[in-house]
Amino acid sequence: MAQSTTQIQITKVSESRINEVDWVNLPFGKVFSDHMLVMDYNNNEWSQPIITQFQNLSLTPATSVLHYGQTVFEGMKAYRNKKGEVSIFRAEENAKRFNQSAKRMCMPTIPTDLFVTYIKELVALDKNWIPTEEGHSLYIRPFMIATDPYVGIRPSASYKFMIFTCPVGKYYSEAVRVKIETEYTRAAHGGTGFAKAGGNYAASLYPAKIAQEQGYQQLIWTDAQEHKYIEEAGTMNVVFHIGNKIITPKSSDTILDGITRKSVMEIAKDWEYETEERKISVEEVITAIKNNELKEAFGAGTAATIAPIKTINYKGVDYDIPAGKSDLFSTKVLNYLNQYKLGKVEDKFNWILKF
Ligand SMILES: *Cc1c(COP(=O)(O)O)cnc(C)c1O
Repeated sequence: MAQSTTQIQITKVSESRINEVDWVNLPFGKVFSDHMLVMDYNNNEWSQPIITQFQNLSLTPATSVLHYGQTVFEGMKAYRNKKGEVSIFRAEENAKRFNQSAKRMCMPTIPTDLFVTYIKELVALDKNWIPTEEGHSLYIRPFMIATDPYVGIRPSASYKFMIFTCPVGKYYSEAVRVKIETEYTRAAHGGTGFAKAGGNYAASLYPAKIAQEQGYQQLIWTDAQEHKYIEEAGTMNVVFHIGNKIITPKSSDTILDGITRKSVMEIAKDWEYETEERKISVEEVITAIKNNELKEAFGAGTAATIAPIKTINYKGVDYDIPAGKSDLFSTKVLNYLNQYKLGKVEDKFNWILKF
């Protein structure tokens, strides 16, 4: 592995923009903290990382990523409690997944301990940007782009790794209406579905737009071969509560291995629910709804944490399901995770990086 360094060269802003922020109406992903981290890769090694003012990049129009999309990203959140303590949830998992994504896209990796250190240093510097209100947080966006000034298809020799952060409010406040997609495909075996690679998201915009025009906020993707098995929601994994079982599709190369989903399943086990990670067919879900056995369904991902589903559309029929009630597993697990991330309950799974 190419060497990289923990030593970060820090240039602080002379004046913070923090007083310009409307903390009451925080849109997702549009407000940026004072600083960003930048690290370049050239001649098979990473340069010293720098932390500097959040600012525009200057790139030649020939920059490789702009044409062929060699880019990967991560998404995670930092929280701050009333005592001023900062916590970040399962950051090493994001570091590992970043490297898995990078390998698939022919990009260099970053040692996981350094990845976590860089995040911690940047967040510590912009600590005052972490909202303390319940459900609010600092969204952290690490990403890497191919930067060769070359119009030709080959793995770039140079890359830029960056991290910036956004204070964010609650993502979804209400339960969502979803459509099971049986025509378009997000990911096929052998493809890049398991990677947080830019192109996956570009390719899913058009089918998602059609669904939105029909009144559904999210798609539930199905397998590319038969469109029979549930995969995921495209920015969230999906979990079903059928009878007394908590069930989620088994991770594979067509499903992004979500850290929220993994955490929810670990909590479900700890709470002595029966859990299953396996193939789950659309037919099974629809049958469970018809037999009143589907207790709930929800999305799980960093942005929303838990997004309860109130309507599932399949082949033109809307099926309404219970959502949002306080005695549901999804509501309890959401409350627990919110408390967990703020350090209000014991860190029994060792998931919190605190400083
Ligand atoms: C990021 C993402 C998820 C959720 O993963 P988390 O680690 O829980 O945030 C699910 N599906 C896709 C396609 C994603 O990009």
